[in-house]
Amino acid sequence: MSPALPLTAVPSAELAPAPLQVLRERGQREVFCGLTGIVWLHRKMQDAFFLVVGSRTCAHLLQSAAGVMIFAEPRFATAIIEERDLAGMADCHAELDRVVDRLLARRSEIRTLFLVGSCPSEVIKLDLANAAQRLMAKHGDAGRSGVRILAYSGSGIETTFTEGEDACLTALVPEMPVADPAAAPSLLLVGALPDIVEDQFLRLFAELGIGPVGVLPARRAGQLPAIGPATRYLLAQPFLGATATALEDRGAQRIDAPFPFGAEGTAGWLSAAAAAFGIDEMHVNRVIAPGRERAKRALERYRPALEGKRITFLPDSQLEIPLARFLATELGMVPVEVGTPYLHRAHLARDLAELPEGTRISEGQDVDAQLDRVRADRPDLTVCGLGLANPLEADGFATKWSIELVFSPVHGFDQAGDLAELFARPLRRRDVLRI
Ligand code: SF4
Repeated sequence: MSPALPLTAVPSAELAPAPLQVLRERGQREVFCGLTGIVWLHRKMQDAFFLVVGSRTCAHLLQSAAGVMIFAEPRFATAIIEERDLAGMADCHAELDRVVDRLLARRSEIRTLFLVGSCPSEVIKLDLANAAQRLMAKHGDAGRSGVRILAYSGSGIETTFTEGEDACLTALVPEMPVADPAAAPSLLLVGALPDIVEDQFLRLFAELGIGPVGVLPARRAGQLPAIGPATRYLLAQPFLGATATALEDRGAQRIDAPFPFGAEGTAGWLSAAAAAFGIDEMHVNRVIAPGRERAKRALERYRPALEGKRITFLPDSQLEIPLARFLATELGMVPVEVGTPYLHRAHLARDLAELPEGTRISEGQDVDAQLDRVRADRPDLTVCGLGLANPLEADGFATKWSIELVFSPVHGFDQAGDLAELFARPLRRRDVLRI
């Protein structure tokens, strides 16, 4: 039997039929820190460099998460600052300046340098935002032309791992040029997607007749799009709350949409963008029909393996709500508990409204209580962080690492089958092991 849950009624999402019941958790967390985002962000922003100001632990995390690049010039590094007291902080700044001087002298292709804060106490004492301004004055406008130096925090104290991207994009927003107030409305696609997926979406926007379209983060610093009150932005990732606030402070307006996972999520996302630009519905249906059909056919192959299977998400990537929506409405899976580190009710309203009645939604983390519920619920599949997967597997649970869902191309029509495969594979593996 499931333990009794202290459910709290919170204001309903706009489209939810009944007040949303959310179990709020505050306890021990088991998540990667925001530095992890550098793994996909450095691939996306091709002339950026991420300089982590941190400890040996941070350096090890990055090396093991991203792999060691032997043949290419790496675009991330760690400046190790350890064992300094407050009296040594002046030295820290001087050392950081020396590292940045050397880096920029050697790597003339760098156009954006991110100083990424971390959680060792020595680093917390350093004001990296000020350091970035000081270094910008030296190397930016006044010195080597065209380099932008920004700071954000990837610290494990204040983040779960996808918040690293949110913090990075938030740091970019003030750098976006001001859009001409008389210019036609433009679309801003927000969230780092693999280039191949981004290109598919850009082609679809062009076919729909939506344009101009800018992308945040841009692949190159010089392509950072302009922004203003005529900008309508469309989130591709559900973990960009701070970025969204920063964009709205610059006048941009969010397009309310589900997230683009699966046939229906992607169709809803594209249709919402088209509606915001006044595109004729018949034309929209014509443009998206082939992709939607391809995605549906790809998903049908996975339905026998996934339909009726019970799934629990432990809070980790912040993709949990839209993925649970996708698995429930497009593949017939049964979400038991959907845990997410932070629940942005407005951004997730469309996906929340489609979760089956009775789905237990939890926000925040209390790892022991959540593991107790997994053991009581005995779902067929548990999506969780790397650190929890092994103990659960040892107890006989099939697991899926949530970080894989962030590292893999999973958005859009043409990735719908691959996304379903990520959930079907651990179930197949468990069946094989049982034989
Ligand atoms: S930022 Fe903190 S949590 Fe992340 S690797 Fe460094 S020390 Fe560990």
